[in-house]
Amino acid sequence: MKYKRILLKISGEALQNREKALNHDPEIMAMLAAQFKTMLEMGAEIAVVVGGGNIFRGLAGSQSGTNRTTGDYMGMLATVINSLAIQNALENEGIDTRVMTAITMRAIAEPFIRRKAVRHLEKGRVVIFGAGTGNPYFTTDSAAALRASEINADVLMKATKVDGIYTADPVKDPNATKFETITYQDALNKQLKVMDAAAFSLCMENDIPIVVFDFFKENGMVDVLTGVESGTRVTH
Ligand code: UDP
Repeated sequence: MKYKRILLKISGEALQNREKALNHDPEIMAMLAAQFKTMLEMGAEIAVVVGGGNIFRGLAGSQSGTNRTTGDYMGMLATVINSLAIQNALENEGIDTRVMTAITMRAIAEPFIRRKAVRHLEKGRVVIFGAGTGNPYFTTDSAAALRASEINADVLMKATKVDGIYTADPVKDPNATKFETITYQDALNKQLKVMDAAAFSLCMENDIPIVVFDFFKENGMVDVLTGVESGTRVTH
């Protein structure tokens, strides 16, 4: 195992099935749970930050008339819905989980307390961090970088639709080439769209390597954990 304590960032959109108009595709949720089970059995500690883009994004909402701050809170609530969906899928596989939220909602989840989160991880529970950072004008990528720093994660694994960071969007540009590794500073200078600048900066300051990998490849996550697949690694 290349990493012990991982923080996985999944976008909300990765969970959805547009054709069937489902926010949470049962097959994707089951795929996630099966890989988590394998990784836990190997001894990994897993924390998750999930986005909310399959349900609501503050910026998009503000373009159609919702107040930006209100929209961002709606987006944060969307991440809580996704967190509960992931919790449910994991529990169906017999995996112990805790949802912890940045905005207190005691009837639904535990409030985020760093020491408690670490304790859950040490006990082998998957910890799902909901409600982003709890602040408007942030993204769940930044929340992932923040939580990864707080729990001293060995890596921030960023799940995407492609197997790493490319010079251009490989779906649109056939000449795009993949970076095996890239420095935080280069990623910032090149304004790579894969994560926002705040997230890159936070990881850079706190020495958290980022691995961008293909979420939809069979066993993609397990392969990153074991070093079979390296994706693109962002480091100093
Ligand atoms: N959001 C926020 N603060 C945070 C994290 C998220 O205000 O710390 C809001 C923001 O409106 C964002 C939405 O929640 O658009 C959903 O998160 P994101 O867009 O990062 O989700 P993803 O694209 O990963 O699905």
